[in-house]
Amino acid sequence: MNNRQLFLSHLAQTTDFPLMIEIEKAEGIYMYGPEGKEYMDLISGIGVSNVGHRHPKVLEAIQNQLDKYLHLMVYGEYVQSPQVQLAKALCETLPSHLDNVYFVNSGSEAVEGALKLAKRYTNRREIISCVNAYHGSSHGSLSVGGNEIFKRAYRPLLPGIKNVVYGSFQQLDEITENTAAFIVETIQGEAGIMVACSDYFQALRKKCNETGTLLILDEIQAGFGRTGKFWAFEHFGIVPDILVCAKGMGGGMPIGAFIANKQVMGAFKNNPLLGHITTFGGHPVSAAASLATIKVIQEEKLLEQVERTANLFKKLLVHPKIKSIRNKGLMRAVEFESFEVLKPIIDRAIENGVITDWFLFCDDAMRIAPPLIITEKEIEKACGVILEAIEGGF
Ligand code: PMP
Repeated sequence: MNNRQLFLSHLAQTTDFPLMIEIEKAEGIYMYGPEGKEYMDLISGIGVSNVGHRHPKVLEAIQNQLDKYLHLMVYGEYVQSPQVQLAKALCETLPSHLDNVYFVNSGSEAVEGALKLAKRYTNRREIISCVNAYHGSSHGSLSVGGNEIFKRAYRPLLPGIKNVVYGSFQQLDEITENTAAFIVETIQGEAGIMVACSDYFQALRKKCNETGTLLILDEIQAGFGRTGKFWAFEHFGIVPDILVCAKGMGGGMPIGAFIANKQVMGAFKNNPLLGHITTFGGHPVSAAASLATIKVIQEEKLLEQVERTANLFKKLLVHPKIKSIRNKGLMRAVEFESFEVLKPIIDRAIENGVITDWFLFCDDAMRIAPPLIITEKEIEKACGVILEAIEGGF
């Protein structure tokens, strides 16, 4: 059997229509299929390859770590240089009260840890999240998700969860002294790039302060430079009590984290001790890759580059069939009339070597979230292919 047949026979399928693009190698913003077919990756493996595929500095860090050690011990016991150096570097990107990092392996796990921490610290049970939120696919993270279609087949989920509308000032009144945490994506990704205003975030922060509710910001998709700031919350003049990150954090390796104040994180130490446990969380190779990723974002001044390149997309991607565009930095949703209109456009663009995608809860918009290293020339080329694909449909 060839690889495509093995994929269909032995790899668990979650749809009857997987993309089935075969990739043999990847580098920078490009991926290569059999016979060297070149694809531009405009979705970064869904928000992961922020510094591009196989960034040489990330590869170097991984190789150096391979020569030292792989897994040594379950999380939180041994002093491992990649972990402590990464924790320090992460804290240096953050306001001073976010000074304590718990490493995990993925976004969903980071959300699980953050929810558990909020419950333990506040001794409250209620959690509020937003309609159309995506926080992951494990039971806890799915429970705070905001899409009923994805949730209903798995009930009973966690009790005590309320959904409110992202951006609604009025519904902030749902937050009370009973609320352990309000969890929200700073920018809603899978809803199709929804961006609330600064006033909303200020009001949310104030309400959480008044009620003693912990504000959890999920920046699994929006963090690590994606929006042109290292953290998306920097656009809005607020800071969370718990910050959750993953995806782009590992530069292509699996790692996630939830970050809080040392005193808050201390809730995991007593009654029971070991309040959150992971075997592989903060794997030394992933941690080394993540530290290199932070350095690349800083040293290559990728945040400044995002500002410029995001504007270029705005200038070039203009067509009467495009109904609207929602974006923050290099997180962009390009809205069309319907899924039926968009489907052949995405298919044609892939055929012509440009990979875009939909969103989980929004099927009439095209996802454009390329590696932050994308150049102006590459954007011109990509937009040309997309515009041609739009034209080809009519
Ligand atoms: N939160 C957000 C905002 C996400 O975009 C995702 C992944 N799409 C997750 C959580 C879950 O991350 P993971 O798939 O690594 O568990």
